[in-house]
Amino acid sequence: MNVYTIFNQPSQFTIGSGKQIAPLAESFVFIVDNKNNILLLNNQVPTYSKIDKSIINSTTLFLFGYINDVACYCCFDDNLQSNNNLAIQNIKASYQMFSLEYFQASLLANHIVYWLRTHKFCGLCGNTNHFSNKELSLKCTSCNNTTYPSIAPCVIGLIYNEDKILLAKNNNNTNNVYSCIAGFVNPGESLERALEREVHEEVGLKIKNIRYISSQQWPFPHSLMMGFIAEYDSGEIKVDYNELSDARWFKLNELDQINLPSEISIANHLIKHYILCNDNKQ
Ligand SMILES: [Zn+2]
Repeated sequence: MNVYTIFNQPSQFTIGSGKQIAPLAESFVFIVDNKNNILLLNNQVPTYSKIDKSIINSTTLFLFGYINDVACYCCFDDNLQSNNNLAIQNIKASYQMFSLEYFQASLLANHIVYWLRTHKFCGLCGNTNHFSNKELSLKCTSCNNTTYPSIAPCVIGLIYNEDKILLAKNNNNTNNVYSCIAGFVNPGESLERALEREVHEEVGLKIKNIRYISSQQWPFPHSLMMGFIAEYDSGEIKVDYNELSDARWFKLNELDQINLPSEISIANHLIKHYILCNDNKQ
């Protein structure tokens, strides 16, 4: 099984070191809003020479990576405006239209922009943060406090019981999608304990044989998803309706009758991984 999710597949996109240099005419500018959208010019990520500077004047460009050695900058604008040439594109959906390196760069732009907009000021003294220019961090202009990009660890697990897998519908999900159980890791928890707790809280089951499969960033706005497969141990499904609207066991041949998670999600990767392992056993 391919260990790479779509987010992690090798591509021509590389993550920047935090070192900042002035943009060149051909540099890419990823202009992102607070709703996971990106601004496109003629359906492409605009270059610095092509973008109307009034759009980026009110913010600061941050160099966050490279596509084929061309620098990629991000900045934010919560009032993106479309016109004949400019279009507002949802980043998750851009997977359908972008080549992999532009999609991956858009994801990181979304994460970095969220970090920059939520850390304008030092958490210790309240003075202004500025780019460290040495690494991917911010430095306080007054007390020199360093702030690194925030990443929220989150576990997600595909639970199986003999020939069935457990999938659940989240209350926030409007597309009727059945997915894996997931939740944020609490301070003091290992990833395995976090998954045990989440599964018990959300569906009342105990699990065993927890195996790590793979991870991926989920920059909406800043999660790191760590994916596991685990075996049912004991208990009856008791749905926590504060979190979920439904949870049940599905046989693999029933999966084509429900909406599965988007192929860019690690949940989709876990389900495919399980199906493939199951095929190999037969
Ligand atoms: Zn400070």
